[in-house]
Amino acid sequence: MNCIFCKIVNQEIPSNKVLENEDFLAFHDINPSAPIHILIIPKKHYENFSQAPEDIFCKMSEFIKEVAKKLNITDYRLITNNGKKAGQEIFHLHFHMLANPEGKLIWPKMV
Ligand code: AMP
Repeated sequence: MNCIFCKIVNQEIPSNKVLENEDFLAFHDINPSAPIHILIIPKKHYENFSQAPEDIFCKMSEFIKEVAKKLNITDYRLITNNGKKAGQEIFHLHFHMLANPEGKLIWPKMV
């Protein structure tokens, strides 16, 4: 499959990994929009939030919280761009985790 995030999962292209388990992977965004900008993805390919089955989100929420713990942050913003008109550029479900431990995140912030 010609999906850049599937290639990251399969280690065909490198990523700056934060955390991984059997089902999910978290890595640094290559073009950060905040002091901390992590992408959190399921290893299995789903086009976006609306195309993914509901039953992955319980475990995905747990994983997201583990990522925050690993980064030692309590305050963060989660965003998922669902569809082209919402700004989605990579069609493999991902949550952006944005944080600024030294201050406040600006809103709105385009990612
Ligand atoms: P979206 O616009 O919501 O689809 O977000 C895609 C995100 O993927 C953008 O923030 C990009 O900077 C990021 N991105 C694209 N390629 C890579 C890569 N190889 N490694 C890490 N992040 C990437």
